[in-house]
Amino acid sequence: MEIITSIQEMQKRIQQLKSDGKTIGFVPTMGFLHEGHLTLVEKAREKADLVVMSIFVNPLQFGPNEDFDRYPRDIERDEKLASEANVDLLFYPTVDEMYKSKHTFKVTVQDKVNILCGSKRPGHFDGVATVLIKLFNIVQPTYAFFGMKDAQQVAIVSSLITEFNFPIELVPVETVREVDGLAKSSRNVYLTESERKEAVAISQSLKLAGRLIQGGEENPLEIQKRMETHIMEHTSAEIDYIEIYSFPDLKTVTSISGLVLIAVAIRFTNVRLIDNMTFDV
Ligand code: AMP
Repeated sequence: MEIITSIQEMQKRIQQLKSDGKTIGFVPTMGFLHEGHLTLVEKAREKADLVVMSIFVNPLQFGPNEDFDRYPRDIERDEKLASEANVDLLFYPTVDEMYKSKHTFKVTVQDKVNILCGSKRPGHFDGVATVLIKLFNIVQPTYAFFGMKDAQQVAIVSSLITEFNFPIELVPVETVREVDGLAKSSRNVYLTESERKEAVAISQSLKLAGRLIQGGEENPLEIQKRMETHIMEHTSAEIDYIEIYSFPDLKTVTSISGLVLIAVAIRFTNVRLIDNMTFDV
């Protein structure tokens, strides 16, 4: 596995690979890799000639009171895992390298953003969009792989690719879970032992929503209420949101029909966790 830290060097390498006619599968991450990330790599392997992974904890997508400084990092471990997963090229730039040029422009996401994580984390998706525009231009992937764990991100990236005419195919990948159902996340390390046990209630509440829908429940408010009760009864966490939208356009639904996204965010002492499921009704 090649490791490249310089943008210029990366662009040179990508140009070579492209002139050899190689297709590129891109997996952008913030590192501290887990099975979720490695599943994206696996999917990329299946579809593309070469897999490029980036590891970059992007300061622009963290708010002033969020966990940028204490976001878990372990590049040595990540290098080993990425190499074992047969990543061909690992792009690992510093913050200075990514943002050294003058900031003449500011990217603003204006649709699909004032809901879910976007409303709780102002500016987050502006930061995500900025870094992805840069990464897409640097890596020039044929395919880009994103986890459905971050469903709002998938919906926004889909619009980004279309509206800015990136010749990239977005490939959404299903959420990878622990045995008990908890969605894998780099932030799970911040759960206390008892919170880790309680955290199963998040996916349980989503499965409960699935059962209600299967049983004919069409009222989103009723589903939200039942999910809220389940989480409140089984965890010490504070609910950030439980929201239901059409997917991928993320519009409010008054009745459950078509493809709907049900998404949850809750806060434990030191960590905020998100999860979601989509249901096709
Ligand atoms: P992150 O490093 O958290 O920014 O995640 C990098 C990519 O991995 C994003 O596309 C995430 O949606 C995806 N991802 C994170 N956790 C999971 C998971 N449990 N299952 C599938 N994809 C995931």
